[in-house]
Amino acid sequence: MKNLIAANWKMNPNSQKEAKEIFFAIVGPASGWDGVEVVICPPNIYLPVLKNIAMSDVALKLGAQNIYFEDKGAFTGEISVAMLTDLGVEYVIIGHSERRKYFGETDETVNKKIKMALASGLKIIFCVGETAGERDAGKKNEVLERQLKIGLLDIENLKLKIENLAIAYEPVWAIGTGNNCSVEETSASIKIIKEKLALSEVEGQVRVLYGGSVKSENSGAYIKEAGVNGLLVGGASLNAEEFVKIVKSAE
Ligand code: PEP
Repeated sequence: MKNLIAANWKMNPNSQKEAKEIFFAIVGPASGWDGVEVVICPPNIYLPVLKNIAMSDVALKLGAQNIYFEDKGAFTGEISVAMLTDLGVEYVIIGHSERRKYFGETDETVNKKIKMALASGLKIIFCVGETAGERDAGKKNEVLERQLKIGLLDIENLKLKIENLAIAYEPVWAIGTGNNCSVEETSASIKIIKEKLALSEVEGQVRVLYGGSVKSENSGAYIKEAGVNGLLVGGASLNAEEFVKIVKSAE
């Protein structure tokens, strides 16, 4: 399994021109990336234009930041899995903490989205992680176990490509704060996640990533010392030079 490095651009940048500039600056170095899988998840509106830039010989893939769990119909403002696969988009981030916090995403809706995406052949980056309050209250393990249990409900019983699933451990307090989780604490959380996956008999087929204030100065340590199979990078992925350094640290 190759390490997976995913860029979450969130609601950035504000123009197509800037999106193309960042993407072009990543496409260049990407032609030399063999040992790592790299996915860029821009806002949906930029997916078609970036898809046209992405060259087939470059190991660069595109992902969305969310989907809806119904396949089509009267769901104003939503995007279906079919719309993404039709465009050649391969990945989707599901259950990001910002969607849970600002858009009412629950473990149950996350589970519906995961099943819809896996059934349609989309690859998933499923985000889990505790808030600062939950961590301080000693509830981290409980939260991770609940998110995984409900998020992955019925997954092992479906005849789906389980290797299309990646889990991103993203402690909410580490996202966008500059306060990245230590390698030791990340390593302990990754162990909890892998134990839970083993109970579901999907461990070993699923990549487990870390996300939360990753920069080029700390990225290599997660890959080498925390037992992760990749990284989910937010803020730093909008700086192409910085993102390229992060990818190189994971090769
Ligand atoms: C994220 O949004 O998934 C993320 C990890 O953000 P940042 O790298 O900015 O903390």
